[in-house]
Amino acid sequence: MATNGGQAVILRLAVPVPLRRLFDYLPPADTDPAQLVPGQRIWVPFGGRKLVAVLVDIVAESPLSELKPALELIDKRPLFDDRSRAFLRWAADYYQAPAGELYAAALPVALRKGRPADHWAEQWLQLTTEGKGLPHSALARAPKQQALRQLLLEHGRHSRTRLKELGHPTTATRALVDRGLAEWQSGPTVPPPIPAAEPAVPPQLNEEQQQVLAAVPGEGFSASLLEGTTGSGKTEVYLRLMQRALDRGQQALLLVPEIGLTPQTLRRIAARFPEHTIAALHSGLADGERARAWLAAASGQADIVIGTRSAILTPLPRPGVVLVDEEHDASFKQQDGVRYSARDLAVVLARNAGVPVLLGSATPSLESLHNALSGRYQHLRLRRRAGDAKPPQIHVVPTLGQQLEEGFAPQVLRHIGDTLARGEQALVFINRRGFAPALTCDDCGWLADCPHCSSKLTLHRRQRQLRCHHCDYRRPLVDSCPQCHSRSLSALGGGTERSEELLAGRFADFPVIRVDRDTTASKQALDRLLAPARAGEPCLLLGTQMLAKGHHLPRVTLVVIQDADGGLFSADFRAPERTGQLLEQVAGRAGRGELAGRVLVQSRFPEHPLLQLLLEKGYGAFARQLLRERTAAQLPPLRAMALVRAECEEPRWAEAFLEEARGHLEAMAPSSPQIQYLGPVPALLERKSGRYRFYLQVTAEQRGQLQPLLARLCQWAEGNRNRRLRWAVDMDAQELS
Ligand code: ADP
Ligand code: ZN
Ligand code: ZN
Repeated sequence: MATNGGQAVILRLAVPVPLRRLFDYLPPADTDPAQLVPGQRIWVPFGGRKLVAVLVDIVAESPLSELKPALELIDKRPLFDDRSRAFLRWAADYYQAPAGELYAAALPVALRKGRPADHWAEQWLQLTTEGKGLPHSALARAPKQQALRQLLLEHGRHSRTRLKELGHPTTATRALVDRGLAEWQSGPTVPPPIPAAEPAVPPQLNEEQQQVLAAVPGEGFSASLLEGTTGSGKTEVYLRLMQRALDRGQQALLLVPEIGLTPQTLRRIAARFPEHTIAALHSGLADGERARAWLAAASGQADIVIGTRSAILTPLPRPGVVLVDEEHDASFKQQDGVRYSARDLAVVLARNAGVPVLLGSATPSLESLHNALSGRYQHLRLRRRAGDAKPPQIHVVPTLGQQLEEGFAPQVLRHIGDTLARGEQALVFINRRGFAPALTCDDCGWLADCPHCSSKLTLHRRQRQLRCHHCDYRRPLVDSCPQCHSRSLSALGGGTERSEELLAGRFADFPVIRVDRDTTASKQALDRLLAPARAGEPCLLLGTQMLAKGHHLPRVTLVVIQDADGGLFSADFRAPERTGQLLEQVAGRAGRGELAGRVLVQSRFPEHPLLQLLLEKGYGAFARQLLRERTAAQLPPLRAMALVRAECEEPRWAEAFLEEARGHLEAMAPSSPQIQYLGPVPALLERKSGRYRFYLQVTAEQRGQLQPLLARLCQWAEGNRNRRLRWAVDMDAQELS
């Protein structure tokens, strides 16, 4: 057995399997125990397979007597430092997640598959002492070498990739190296620089912004909610807080929602910090790019880390500030696998690191608002729009009893026409993509259903397809009813594609730009699509919530919300909150420049009290009212909530599993005011991809009351031998669907 100073060496590993425990192994046969450091990756044999595990701890004793040796050490240096491992352990406990799966989620795919980190090392060119001391005239007759030397002298070492990008010929680099004036060194890679416009000069902060900045302590842990209307200058506050951390030599982490991380956002940050390396971590990257960006963040090469949800799991050696933009956004909660909330973990990370965290939004989640109103977070406000922009005027357009044209009231179409004629831009928000959400037979009433889900198929006319938006099932469009062969089929309701047809015909003199998942395969595509809008030409933008975020379009003066009613009558208690957030965010796109903005909201229920509150008093008052209702109904965020989920092709099995789960939970903690149970009940989307879905809801007065119960429930559930039944624990669940 391997020993170190006489002690046995046993490796405690996080292995990526769905079991909530660590696994003990012996060191690989040919590895010197002195090389082993927690945080390294290591190949292990597991159930006949070879897996990439992470070394979490080195111990001297194991409760097991027969240990297998691990196969091979992958990393020379650890990828996860002590703080990062402690953070991940906390998260695994809190979310009842298998540690191995959480480490796997923290790693970019290429590293998860065992690629050595050295693969992304780079060659760096730097001047030797002799090269630095050379008199200026010495290279007078070799201008290319001279230019290269000057660059290295003024800006320090450069990577081979960067030199190529800057157009320095390899002949010049070789000549400098041959003459002993420069030398190559291997070092960690850095991500390619983000093309920025001119380096930006920061604006003078307004008084509110100054107060906000003064309120965030420079050092030590503090949590703040920044509630600020769209366009009030929140991003400017983030930039200043980043600057503070950078000035102290620390890293700044900014989390953004999946659709908020646009090239425009990145350019804005890059323009402000031209001297600093930025690592951008998002789903649009190829595996290699993502690994490079991750390693730059984890090695400390990158000073600024901007990323979507999983960026919160990236180890940062010297964190200085944690920022979460659009903190209310649903994409911060992972909806399968390890169901963590990046926004909530941001607060935990900041607390562990002893640094400030700021959650920003124009439409804060009720969770964060509750934390702010109850004093757990500092509550900061920006009430006015920055610069000269004024808040938009909002008008409701009642649609009941009106002659609508493809869902639009005549006066709304008139306003759009007037806006374009004035040379301004209009934005139409439609919460549904495709041509129509249902296809039906006029003669027998047949409806096109998804064969795998309890939902209708959406008609996509341009592609001549019917598609399920839940499982992505697709079939060719039919010309006649499969049931009665009638050729009289109707598309019910409207989507972006249908509105585009109407609007493009009606306003043929202007570009009509449709933005939804079908027209924007990538972030770059979206950027290109929006180029005419950014250039300021009169145009009509129409699309889904992709249009609601992250785009600064100062010439949009009219925003139309085609249907405000969707979320007001849902069975999901969070639906009104989400509707309010979306409407406010979309409305906030109007009048962000010098021109005043107008918002037209179509509704069949203009008298609905929540809608009235939202439109008259704004999201702040609306959210506070919802919070009172949640309090009365004893729902989150007043109580902590976890769902135990089960799904199976055979509905009885899923239900029976949850009945049994409830029995176990009630045996440990009977129903009481502290702990309450509901269910099993079918999920809102009862059948998805062929499986029936149920959940059991557990709520508690205190979060801490749930953890021990759920931990023991997971131990029991891991014994489930029915391979066709899937189960999960969803702590702080966001979706009942
Ligand atoms: P938010 O993130 O709250 O939507 P931004 O930070 O993007 O707001 O600011 C909106 C616009 O106002 C941007 O064009 C920004 O450059 C500008 N801006 C922000 N702060 C100031 C300021 N203090 N003075 C002038 N313009 C500002
Ligand atoms: Zn029919
Ligand atoms: Zn489906």
